[in-house]
Amino acid sequence: MLPPKCKPHQQRAGWHCASCNAPRCPDCVATKHVTYSTTMEVCTQCGELVTPLTQHRADQRSFAARIPGALGWPLSKQGLVAIAGVALVRTVLSYLPGLGWGLSACLFAAVCFGLVRSTARGSDDFETSDLSDVFTDVLVPGIKALVGTVLVWLPAALWLGTRHPGAAQNPLAAVTDPVVWLLLVGGVLYAPMAVLSGAAGSSLFAMLSPLHVVRNALKLGQAYGLLVVVLGVLFFPWLVVLALGTMLNLLPVPFLPRLLDHAVACYVPFVASRIMGLLLYTHGDRVEYGLERDYQVALLPGVPPRGVAPEAPAEQKRSRAPIELPPEPEPLIEATVEKPRELDPDTLPPLKVE
Ligand SMILES: [Zn+2]
Ligand SMILES: [Zn+2]
Repeated sequence: MLPPKCKPHQQRAGWHCASCNAPRCPDCVATKHVTYSTTMEVCTQCGELVTPLTQHRADQRSFAARIPGALGWPLSKQGLVAIAGVALVRTVLSYLPGLGWGLSACLFAAVCFGLVRSTARGSDDFETSDLSDVFTDVLVPGIKALVGTVLVWLPAALWLGTRHPGAAQNPLAAVTDPVVWLLLVGGVLYAPMAVLSGAAGSSLFAMLSPLHVVRNALKLGQAYGLLVVVLGVLFFPWLVVLALGTMLNLLPVPFLPRLLDHAVACYVPFVASRIMGLLLYTHGDRVEYGLERDYQVALLPGVPPRGVAPEAPAEQKRSRAPIELPPEPEPLIEATVEKPRELDPDTLPPLKVE
């Protein structure tokens, strides 16, 4: 759809005047001060109020066009702060015996889920404010992320285990079984939507409900297909980074290689989280994420009106115009109006005070 232009200036319009029934550009609209703190936007042609024109976020910028920005986010100031914090905490936890590794993985999942949600809200910041409760804010995201990754390969693995128990001896039969590949493809298509739902706040039960997950994936349509492809592509640099981290850990230096390993390990998951969040930010209204009207943005965001308001509002101009009135008919009876007379204070009854 071509952006509407105003007639007087042939410029891109950002407002609509209902009274003129015409699009209005910044030069056609003036800011009028009603009181000290209240202003309104009026049409310079007629003086009436104008309403801002809006468009859907997806029309402002498509999901595909927003993806390249996600690749650079981990290297932005907010991204680097997040990487430094996460790497430091995870490195310290990795020295804890026993459950340190599991807690570290859960914390990382919680951070990534938080990143999905803050991105879906349109924020570029890294927010950790919602990590206050260890069970619901750290452990649950960890379990959800684990379930998400397991969903990719578990159905295919279960099929292999029951139908091809001797797969190690006869790998050809297993590899050429179409059901194995169908289940694997199904897992790859299913898991991102399940993880996205889980990150956005759906329960574990909803993540495992094909009705909920498949319906939402279908509602997101083409954009979801793009997400699956991009996540699939990101899988390869993620493997490279994992290998790099393992090599770093072989260095005979304490702490520092492990810190670097955890820092580089952030890159791909952070990019993936940003991309998932951007999908919700752009098309979340399709899956009832937030209010529909929140997905409408100004056609000319941040552009102030530049016009000059007409001297007097239209109503006053109209009321000053001369009008012809028929002469008033003579009254039939002369009205007698009693004149108000002054009361004598001495004749009045005393005032009752209760
Ligand atoms: Zn107007
Ligand atoms: Zn104009």
